[in-house]
Amino acid sequence: MLAVARAALFLLLAACVPAGAAQRTVYLTFDDGPLNGTANVLDVLEAQQVPAALFMVGQHALVSPERGALVTRAKSLPLVTVGNHSFSHANNRYQRFYADTEAVVADMLKANTVLGLKAPPPVPARLPGRDVFRLQYMSRDDFGLSLEEAQREQVDFEFVAASGFHLYGWDFEWVHEDSGKPVQSVDRLIDEIGHLFAAGRTVGKNKLVLLMHDEMFQDVFQGRDKLTALVTGLRAKGYAFGHIADYDTATSP
Ligand SMILES: [Zn+2]
Repeated sequence: MLAVARAALFLLLAACVPAGAAQRTVYLTFDDGPLNGTANVLDVLEAQQVPAALFMVGQHALVSPERGALVTRAKSLPLVTVGNHSFSHANNRYQRFYADTEAVVADMLKANTVLGLKAPPPVPARLPGRDVFRLQYMSRDDFGLSLEEAQREQVDFEFVAASGFHLYGWDFEWVHEDSGKPVQSVDRLIDEIGHLFAAGRTVGKNKLVLLMHDEMFQDVFQGRDKLTALVTGLRAKGYAFGHIADYDTATSP
């Protein structure tokens, strides 16, 4: 009887956790805050107790005392990593921004000051508009750039990294409209993530960095509900959630 119960339990567990999924880790990342939507992101991360990185924009923190307070709150949460996403966000003119290496480095350092991201370097960071990795064990340029652009901008990526930053790109994006409204449904997104893992189409084996933007989680888009559904849905698939600082390891492919 006991053996039957054990076998039943095993089958139940096997049905809940797809084979191989237990070792798969999702790294949640949120860009461009502090914005309208950031408070909801922090609420959900706290309630669900999941780690995440928020790559913040220096000038957004200076918009109002309330926005500045969101940076302070994010930094106070043990599971949240606040990273640097530049001071100016390149004013969304990326080619012009990356044409001046010294200015790029200065803009990143200015954001460290404004966001209070001093020590110890390297500071986790994401470059505005560029899907670039510069970590201890892995380095990757933005495949979306032309060869000419990539060659021209490589010097920026190297200088920023050498100025005390670990640069994180991403594997996949939960896309949004110009208004900030998420494009894919939560179910669709979870399916897409499953396909990427299954096809081995992530930069690091069994690791997926998911890019989202704080503005997607405003009340008007039912931000809390959607992010809660994403976290619980990924958890139900058996994925783990990782701290961005643990992403890069000596065994990274
Ligand atoms: Zn951004």
